[in-house]
Amino acid sequence: MPCHWIRFKDKDGREHVAHVNMAAPRKRRCAFCGCPDAKALCDYPIAPGKTCDKPCCSNCRQHVGPDRDYCRDHWDFASREAQGRLFA
Ligand SMILES: [Zn+2]
Ligand SMILES: [Zn+2]
Repeated sequence: MPCHWIRFKDKDGREHVAHVNMAAPRKRRCAFCGCPDAKALCDYPIAPGKTCDKPCCSNCRQHVGPDRDYCRDHWDFASREAQGRLFA
């Protein structure tokens, strides 16, 4: 999504609507190494219809399939899970 609107209340209880620009994904900061070049979002499902969405750079993401990338945490988790199944 290129942009969206958020609604929030300030400390006096007044409601505000702010426009948040979600464009320029190339400027997103990697959640792991902090480099400003996160190109992928983690696609690991954390809840029905919801993915982790952590921004990862090309060093920190793990490409697990077409159009599918996991962040470091979830790649770890997913590979351990797969191993558990393998050796169970
Ligand atoms: Zn990184
Ligand atoms: Zn993740």
